[in-house]
Amino acid sequence: MDLSVVIPIYNEETNLSALNTRLTAVLNTLPLQAEIIYVNDGSQDKSLELMRHLAAHDPRVHYVNFSRNFGHQIAITAGLDICSGAAVVVMDGDLQDPPELIPELYAKLQEGYEVVYAKRRSRQGESAVKKLTAKFFYRLLARITSVNIPLDTGDFRIVSRKVVRALKQMPEQNKFIRGQISWIGYRQTFLEFDRSERAGGTPGYTYSKLIRLAMDGITSFSDLPLRIASIGGFAVSGVAFAVMLYAVYARFFMQNYGVGWPSLMVSVLFLGGVQLMAIGIIGEYIARLGANSRQRPLYIIDDTDLAEEGSEYFGR
Ligand code: UDP
Ligand code: MG
Repeated sequence: MDLSVVIPIYNEETNLSALNTRLTAVLNTLPLQAEIIYVNDGSQDKSLELMRHLAAHDPRVHYVNFSRNFGHQIAITAGLDICSGAAVVVMDGDLQDPPELIPELYAKLQEGYEVVYAKRRSRQGESAVKKLTAKFFYRLLARITSVNIPLDTGDFRIVSRKVVRALKQMPEQNKFIRGQISWIGYRQTFLEFDRSERAGGTPGYTYSKLIRLAMDGITSFSDLPLRIASIGGFAVSGVAFAVMLYAVYARFFMQNYGVGWPSLMVSVLFLGGVQLMAIGIIGEYIARLGANSRQRPLYIIDDTDLAEEGSEYFGR
């Protein structure tokens, strides 16, 4: 197999047919043996029936059906686990990532790169708030992490088999695949494209899912929040100590010392707040430690046309 295309699908019934048509048209122009793998991430609409139908009518098309919604990053992981191409494209199923870019991505990969990611030159049809928070997040991440995670890039990219093998060796539960791929190294480059609007349907990424992804990105690749918590703790204790000295001084050497209520409240609340914040940050890391030590499979496959039930892919 020369090329696999992995597409996570969550409630994309309005886009699947158009996507498949455009994608197969592109693949037909390439002199390659190719496969398309749709990973159904617990869709509640007709996505699963549609992809079963597509798979039944085209031997290049396959599906993997999760037992529930496990999330976009896990769906990509499952696709990467099960695909067999020497090169693998990962793209969204809402036509925001144009299939027509695949030949260019593939050609670039053949120039001797292991990763070619598609960088958004522009983004259409997304709210100003989303664009702004995304922009802010990528810049923050770039500043506080040690790996160079490319700016303004989603998961749309092509990677070589070497990278897929490396990814399979990273068993972390809280996936932030674009960060992991940067961490892996090798020769990486990018192509620019204009990201269009979602063709139909509604975004499956709710704000809470986005926040979780952002937290996974930060905690997987940076310990800076922990350091801020401890440095902040020291700084605040220093201030508190100075205030304490002042309080003692006022008690013994000043005449009108009695009125301490506001300063007492302020310092108690402030200290309490800082402590809770620091504990919260530590908690985020501990929660992820916990998830990893439980060693649960990342996903449960209900059925797929790619592997026999009972094979290693079920309940990995
Ligand atoms: N997706 C998924 N599981 C989810 C949410 C989204 O597999 O829980 C898929 C979705 O079908 C799409 C891709 O991930 O193919 C990107 O999702 P979306 O378009 O909602 O994200 P956005 O483009 O808004 O970042
Ligand atoms: Mg989208």
